[in-house]
Amino acid sequence: MSPSPANHESRITHHVLVVGSFNVDHVWTVASLPRPGETLSGHYHTGPGGKGFNQATAAVRAGASTTFVCALGEDLGGQLARALAAADGLDLREHSSEAPTGTAGIYVDHDGRNSIVIGPGANADLPLAHVQAQRDGIHAAHVLLAQLESPLASIEAAFAIAREAGVRTMLNPAPADAQVPASLLALSDVITPNETEFCAQLARHVGERVDASTVASRDDDTLHAWCRRLLPHGTVVVTLGAAGCFVSHADGALHRDARTHYRVAAAKVQPHDTTGAGDAFNGALAASWALRPDAAFADHLHYANRYAALSTERAGAAVSMPRDEEVRARFA
Ligand code: AMP
Repeated sequence: MSPSPANHESRITHHVLVVGSFNVDHVWTVASLPRPGETLSGHYHTGPGGKGFNQATAAVRAGASTTFVCALGEDLGGQLARALAAADGLDLREHSSEAPTGTAGIYVDHDGRNSIVIGPGANADLPLAHVQAQRDGIHAAHVLLAQLESPLASIEAAFAIAREAGVRTMLNPAPADAQVPASLLALSDVITPNETEFCAQLARHVGERVDASTVASRDDDTLHAWCRRLLPHGTVVVTLGAAGCFVSHADGALHRDARTHYRVAAAKVQPHDTTGAGDAFNGALAASWALRPDAAFADHLHYANRYAALSTERAGAAVSMPRDEEVRARFA
């Protein structure tokens, strides 16, 4: 399915292309989450977020030249996205929307519990035609990466365009409550759910009801069997927080050693804020895979674990993404 490395070298302009969301996050830290009718004061901060932007930022800081396809409003949020993309050298291919730039209102209490309201705004307005207009960019990529905060028809169109050219496709099926059609799974070479998202997809596509809190403690053969039923032709990477990740390959897919399924332990760090750890993992995995297409897949997972672990030592989502040199220095 994948073009030969020689082919890749001659036609590459972008290593990773991300289709996804940008949000301005508004975060209040409060003693307790507000009840109906209650007015509280809390510590406030704001910053960039959205799964697509977080993952694109991780990919570019991990060293891959990265294109980010998204929809932004003509407002301060859109200006923020453009300024941040320029600062990181992210190639921004935006659709300019009449809707406001995406926002998230987040309350976090002192026990780390949160309540979140998302205003999808422009993210819900990423047109199919805009994605189709990126055909050359998608064909030129090594890896296409998307999540589920954008219209499914647009994501599926991008994956179909990637498939035409044998570009590797990676789907992060997040958030967990988003519907993933079987047709989109069929276009995915790799999917990367966390435990909750994995259980949501198992329930939806395999008819298997599993408690997310038990996933990490299941035996590997059981996890592998579920993964094979969920994505028979492809690779499933289940991220397990502080336990790292579990990977299950279809026979003959991607792995360059004898193992079809195995775990890769997380890197040892002192986590401070795990917001965006999954996004860090996805962006770094896509970047590593794009930059070193002939390396063992386990090596990419090892790098993604280290990258994501380092991101948890810093506060915030997109702003917490480390640079490749910092990852290498930290775990030298
Ligand atoms: P999650 O979305 O919680 O499954 O986390 C995604 C990835 O971030 C994991 O696969 C780990 O690589 C990394 N990670 C998350 N939490 C921790 C932690 N406490 N210590 C080290 N790595 C972590």
